Amino acid sequence: MASLGEKLQQADWAKEKHVPVIECADSVTAGDLLEVKVSVGKEIAHPNTTEHHISWIALYFQADGDKFPFHVGRFEFAAHGESVAGANQGPVYTHHAATTWLKLLKPGTLYAVAMCNIHGLWESTKQIKVS
Ligand code: FE
Repeated sequence: MASLGEKLQQADWAKEKHVPVIECADSVTAGDLLEVKVSVGKEIAHPNTTEHHISWIALYFQADGDKFPFHVGRFEFAAHGESVAGANQGPVYTHHAATTWLKLLKPGTLYAVAMCNIHGLWESTKQIKVS
Protein backbone atom coordinates (compact mmCIF):
# COMPACT_ATOMS: atom_id res chain seq x y z
CA MET A 1 0.00 0.00 0.00
CA ALA A 2 1.37 3.40 -0.90
CA SER A 3 2.03 5.85 1.92
CA LEU A 4 1.95 9.62 1.96
CA GLY A 5 5.56 9.59 3.12
CA GLU A 6 6.55 8.14 -0.26
CA LYS A 7 5.06 11.26 -1.88
CA LEU A 8 7.45 13.60 -0.08
CA GLN A 9 9.88 14.60 -2.81
CA GLN A 10 13.52 15.36 -2.03
CA ALA A 11 16.12 17.16 -4.09
CA ASP A 12 18.94 19.68 -3.86
CA TRP A 13 17.32 23.06 -3.15
CA ALA A 14 20.02 24.78 -5.21
CA LYS A 15 18.78 22.91 -8.31
CA GLU A 16 15.08 22.28 -7.61
CA LYS A 17 12.90 25.29 -6.88
CA HIS A 18 10.32 23.49 -4.73
CA VAL A 19 12.60 22.24 -1.97
CA PRO A 20 12.17 24.13 1.30
CA VAL A 21 15.31 25.72 2.68
CA ILE A 22 15.95 25.69 6.44
CA GLU A 23 18.29 28.46 7.54
CA CYS A 24 19.52 28.55 11.14
CA ALA A 25 22.61 28.02 13.23
CA ASP A 26 24.08 24.51 13.10
CA SER A 27 24.38 24.38 16.87
CA VAL A 28 22.73 26.08 19.83
CA THR A 29 23.00 26.09 23.60
CA ALA A 30 20.20 24.12 25.28
CA GLY A 31 17.35 26.45 26.14
CA ASP A 32 18.57 29.40 24.10
CA LEU A 33 16.34 30.80 21.38
CA LEU A 34 17.20 29.48 17.93
CA GLU A 35 15.99 31.60 15.01
CA VAL A 36 14.83 29.41 12.12
CA LYS A 37 13.89 30.69 8.67
CA VAL A 38 12.07 28.47 6.19
CA SER A 39 11.54 29.44 2.59
CA VAL A 40 11.11 28.11 -0.93
CA GLY A 41 13.00 29.38 -3.95
CA LYS A 42 16.15 30.70 -2.29
CA GLU A 43 18.28 29.82 -5.33
CA ILE A 44 15.68 29.35 -8.09
CA ALA A 45 12.52 31.42 -7.70
CA HIS A 46 9.20 29.58 -7.51
CA PRO A 47 6.16 31.23 -9.15
CA ASN A 48 3.68 33.01 -6.90
CA THR A 49 0.49 33.33 -8.93
CA THR A 50 -3.15 32.46 -8.43
CA GLU A 51 -2.66 29.33 -10.53
CA HIS A 52 0.72 28.21 -9.17
CA HIS A 53 2.10 28.95 -5.72
CA ILE A 54 3.46 27.57 -2.46
CA SER A 55 0.48 27.07 -0.12
CA TRP A 56 2.26 26.32 3.16
CA ILE A 57 5.42 25.14 4.86
CA ALA A 58 5.28 22.95 7.97
CA LEU A 59 8.20 22.47 10.34
CA TYR A 60 8.87 19.44 12.57
CA PHE A 61 11.58 18.51 15.05
CA GLN A 62 12.69 15.05 16.08
CA ALA A 63 15.21 14.67 18.88
CA ASP A 64 18.01 12.18 18.31
CA GLY A 65 16.97 8.77 19.60
CA ASP A 66 13.29 9.70 19.98
CA LYS A 67 10.59 7.71 18.24
CA PHE A 68 8.28 10.54 17.12
CA PRO A 69 8.66 13.99 15.56
CA PHE A 70 7.00 17.10 17.03
CA HIS A 71 5.12 19.66 14.93
CA VAL A 72 6.73 23.01 15.75
CA GLY A 73 5.26 25.39 13.19
CA ARG A 74 3.05 25.81 10.16
CA PHE A 75 3.11 28.84 7.92
CA GLU A 76 0.22 29.54 5.56
CA PHE A 77 0.80 31.62 2.45
CA ALA A 78 -2.79 32.58 1.82
CA ALA A 79 -2.90 35.34 -0.80
CA HIS A 80 -1.91 34.78 -4.42
CA GLY A 81 -3.38 37.63 -6.41
CA GLU A 82 -6.97 36.42 -6.23
CA SER A 83 -9.57 39.07 -6.99
CA VAL A 84 -13.16 39.57 -8.11
CA ALA A 85 -11.56 41.03 -11.24
CA GLY A 86 -9.97 37.63 -11.89
CA ALA A 87 -6.82 35.63 -11.30
CA ASN A 88 -3.67 37.65 -10.62
CA GLN A 89 -5.62 40.90 -10.52
CA GLY A 90 -5.58 41.18 -6.73
CA PRO A 91 -3.48 43.63 -4.71
CA VAL A 92 -1.53 41.20 -2.54
CA TYR A 93 0.63 38.09 -2.69
CA THR A 94 1.98 36.29 0.41
CA HIS A 95 5.64 35.47 -0.15
CA HIS A 96 6.58 31.90 0.78
CA ALA A 97 9.04 32.52 3.60
CA ALA A 98 8.68 32.68 7.38
CA THR A 99 10.82 32.97 10.49
CA THR A 100 10.17 31.38 13.86
CA TRP A 101 12.10 30.72 17.06
CA LEU A 102 12.63 27.46 18.91
CA LYS A 103 14.15 26.41 22.20
CA LEU A 104 15.80 23.01 21.89
CA LEU A 105 16.85 20.92 24.86
CA LYS A 106 18.19 17.98 22.87
CA PRO A 107 20.01 17.69 19.53
CA GLY A 108 17.98 16.44 16.62
CA THR A 109 16.68 17.07 13.13
CA LEU A 110 14.43 19.74 11.72
CA TYR A 111 12.14 18.63 8.89
CA ALA A 112 10.46 21.16 6.60
CA VAL A 113 7.62 20.15 4.25
CA ALA A 114 6.42 22.56 1.55
CA MET A 115 3.24 22.23 -0.47
CA CYS A 116 3.10 23.50 -4.06
CA ASN A 117 -0.54 23.68 -5.11
CA ILE A 118 0.19 21.80 -8.34
CA HIS A 119 3.55 20.06 -7.81
CA GLY A 120 2.90 18.35 -4.49
CA LEU A 121 4.92 17.90 -1.32
CA TRP A 122 8.64 18.59 -0.92
CA GLU A 123 10.82 18.06 2.12
CA SER A 124 14.24 18.90 3.45
CA THR A 125 16.07 18.34 6.72
CA LYS A 126 18.72 20.00 8.84
CA GLN A 127 20.51 18.55 11.84
CA ILE A 128 20.98 20.76 14.90
CA LYS A 129 23.57 20.19 17.60
CA VAL A 130 22.63 21.18 21.14
CA SER A 131 25.22 21.62 23.85
FE1 FE B 1 5.31 24.45 -8.30
